[in-house]
Amino acid sequence: TYIIAQPCVDLKDRACIDECPVDCIYEGNRSLYIHPEECIDCGACEPVCPVEAIFYEDDVPDEWEAYYSANVDFFDDI
Ligand code: SF4
Repeated sequence: TYIIAQPCVDLKDRACIDECPVDCIYEGNRSLYIHPEECIDCGACEPVCPVEAIFYEDDVPDEWEAYYSANVDFFDDI
């Protein structure tokens, strides 16, 4: 799965939502989140993010590691 990290918080540009072919990017209060089971790893969302908040799960910078859990947990809560 791809995940959305810190640069999205309180910004939510939403350009990624238009690109996602399976509509698996959802809006939370302060950030957008990618559904880890619906994401097909196509990568279309990553280059359109104006703040480079989106990463493939293996490429998340160390300081934003917690955002993997944040994306997964978001969908546990809904
Ligand atoms: Fe959607 Fe593709 Fe991005 Fe996954 S990688 S969230 S399927 S656009």
